[in-house]
Amino acid sequence: MNYKIQHIPKDTPYNRRPGLEMQAEYITIHSTANPRSTAQNERDWLVNKNNHRTASWHIAIDEKEAVEAIPLNEVAWHAGDGNNGTGNRKSIAIEICESGDRAKTVVNATKLVAQLLYEKGWGIDRVKRHYDWNGKICPRIFAKNNWENWRGFLIDVERELEALKKNKQEKIRILGKAQATAEQMKKYLLSINPNPKINCTVDELVSYYLEEGEIEGVRGDIAFAQSLKETGFFRFGGIVQPKQNNFAGIGALNNNGKGQCATFPTPRIGVRAQIQHLKGYATTEKPVQEIVDPRYQILIDKGLLGTAPYVTDLNGKWAWPGKGYGEGILKILNKILAVKVETVDYKKLYFSVREENKALRTKVEELRDRLSQIKKIAEV
Ligand SMILES: [Zn+2]
Repeated sequence: MNYKIQHIPKDTPYNRRPGLEMQAEYITIHSTANPRSTAQNERDWLVNKNNHRTASWHIAIDEKEAVEAIPLNEVAWHAGDGNNGTGNRKSIAIEICESGDRAKTVVNATKLVAQLLYEKGWGIDRVKRHYDWNGKICPRIFAKNNWENWRGFLIDVERELEALKKNKQEKIRILGKAQATAEQMKKYLLSINPNPKINCTVDELVSYYLEEGEIEGVRGDIAFAQSLKETGFFRFGGIVQPKQNNFAGIGALNNNGKGQCATFPTPRIGVRAQIQHLKGYATTEKPVQEIVDPRYQILIDKGLLGTAPYVTDLNGKWAWPGKGYGEGILKILNKILAVKVETVDYKKLYFSVREENKALRTKVEELRDRLSQIKKIAEV
């Protein structure tokens, strides 16, 4: 599911974004009460001139995406419990859209709520209905049979939350020695995309990752997994063009046009820049080689050096908003590490060839004997 951040302006009329700081303690669920309005429509309505209401929300979600309209640490007006009500002042409002495929929408909402609870370390008791604050029958999509579906929704969210806790991946450091071999990296890439759009051979590219990583003390296999994620297995198709030798979207900000990002003269320099950028996030220690990463200085200026020692720390840093970014890299890394590469056991091979040799010699001797016997009988 896509998660878009489209904050409404601070001066939006009718005080819809008051800019009041909020330390949320709850999540409040609404449904839009409009069967035709998508998440994007809801977002657009917040800035529509014909809208004269002081009402807003944080996130709207439909069958295909979530749109965040107000930062989650600012107040929105949605709970109907007054200026200082707990619903308004202490809860994140989620509007579930009533448009489109309801089942898909509810699955998306379930995942979103579980993810928020997970990130905040909250339990299911933090999830409230609009109804809980002021008695309004909202979210009306769950209200039938004395809120039967609401109870079902909470059970699903809790199940999803438990799954997230269970799957919590082991923290993996960016710095260190590569664990995958060149052969595994190559084989995995070619199994997904046999024709990567790169300006060198796959063998060369893989060796650049391992060599440049080794020099800087960065795991080259992690950098490679990152590049597979960033370039769509070197199919490209986003902002970065294949000729740019930019394998991790360096300088490709969310709203940039095609080609509007860093370009490197050769694939090796592109890899080096990526490794240096990773190193910058992972440690305050300077790169060993001359700096070719055009954004390394930005890491220094923004105080980001050494702030992301683990792969999942890149979420919200290398990628924005970056939910699940590091986890995605680790998923690819695990697949690379699972690639089976046939290794030759030369000792075993020696003995088996020797056996075969011996058997053939015996056979040759047998044939020779038989030949001489036949020769005698035939008197040739
Ligand atoms: Zn509501």
